[in-house]
Amino acid sequence: MTQVNEIALPYDVEKVRADFPILHQQHHTGVPIIYLDNAASSQKPLKVIEAMDDYYRRYNANVHRGIHKLSEEATSAYEKARIKIKRFINAPSRREIIFTRGTTESINLVAQTWGRANLKTGDVVVSTVMEHHSNIVPWQILAAEKGFTIRYVPLLEDGTLDLDYLAQVLRDEPVKFVTVTHVSNVLGTINPIEVIVQQAHAAGALVLADGAQSVPHMPVDVQALGVDFFAFSGHKMVGPTGIGVLYGKRELLEAMPPWMGGGDMISQVRLEGSTWNDLPYKFEAGTPAIAEAIGLGYAVDYLTELGMDKIHAHEQAMTAYALERLSEVPGLTVYGPDAAQKGAVAAFKFGDIHAHDVAQMLDAEGIAVRAGHHCAMPLHDHLGANATARASFYLYNTPSEVDALIEALYKAKQAFSRQ
Ligand code: PMP
Repeated sequence: MTQVNEIALPYDVEKVRADFPILHQQHHTGVPIIYLDNAASSQKPLKVIEAMDDYYRRYNANVHRGIHKLSEEATSAYEKARIKIKRFINAPSRREIIFTRGTTESINLVAQTWGRANLKTGDVVVSTVMEHHSNIVPWQILAAEKGFTIRYVPLLEDGTLDLDYLAQVLRDEPVKFVTVTHVSNVLGTINPIEVIVQQAHAAGALVLADGAQSVPHMPVDVQALGVDFFAFSGHKMVGPTGIGVLYGKRELLEAMPPWMGGGDMISQVRLEGSTWNDLPYKFEAGTPAIAEAIGLGYAVDYLTELGMDKIHAHEQAMTAYALERLSEVPGLTVYGPDAAQKGAVAAFKFGDIHAHDVAQMLDAEGIAVRAGHHCAMPLHDHLGANATARASFYLYNTPSEVDALIEALYKAKQAFSRQ
């Protein structure tokens, strides 16, 4: 435990910050940049940057193909990364870990393979009002073609899911698939995935959880959650862009047709037809993002060494502190549940000041937040806001950065009241 601003934090944040070169860059104001846009993408520790650099300098080659030394070394590092990820989310087998470009591609893969093969007119897919567009649009595209219905679980006043509605739909309608985010990227709501899985399975429906905002921030055990599919992105968990993961239960993946066709995903190709490779390669057509997969493996090492329990505890302390300080600012409203049920996200409205103006004024003070609909337009319709400003925290943020945010918000308010 270390004390910062009288807040007990589970590790020495300054030591962690030393691992992230970008955090030491000066903003034009002459102060180090304050990065509070972690829900969009995280910064990378030197260990990850160096691992990718090392691949390109020392053993760059294609994987699963060459008999030569460089290719063998690249293949070994690529497959080692898969095993690290398997352990990180406690998947039963490395064959259930499919590398994709990210959460978006993982969800589209499930829609276009499992969904295309199994959903038809009359079926029901359940999603929620708080989903990122990547967990709405792939299902809408498929529904337009297949004619199934999508129901959206509404939200309660406190920003949690209306689980009574879900229970009712599961009881009254032929639901085949439930697709829900683990943690909302706007409200921060942590959804009770185990409970949802139990209810859905009892009704004979499968469950996909979008882990884009959970895997980076808290311990995740896909077997304990009981999910059938689980999707997440490397770039939000101190890893590189262009790489992500789809976990799927083996028997489901085995039964699913491939999505993209090409090299590596086949067993035999004849002009009359082809047969498919074993898992996970059946779903990894073409040359994969090799350096990125290796980088993600090192990101997993980094998070594991720091400890996901500690990271989660750090973020809970940071979120509680941020919510407390934000509640002091007149005219500011934070959306979503209280700190106990919330990930490290604070999306807010600031009186009449437009979210984009808030973000611009914070940027002038060297503070990076995001403004807009955060790829969650249906949620913003529900909130009655066309845009929110969002501060989101990660393992390297400090209470004094929250203080700087609050100070900058007061400054913005003053500037606007003079206009
Ligand atoms: N789901 C959630 C909850 C997210 O926050 C995001 C990223 N903002 C995504 C999905 C999409 O992730 P990616 O853009 O990395 O595919």
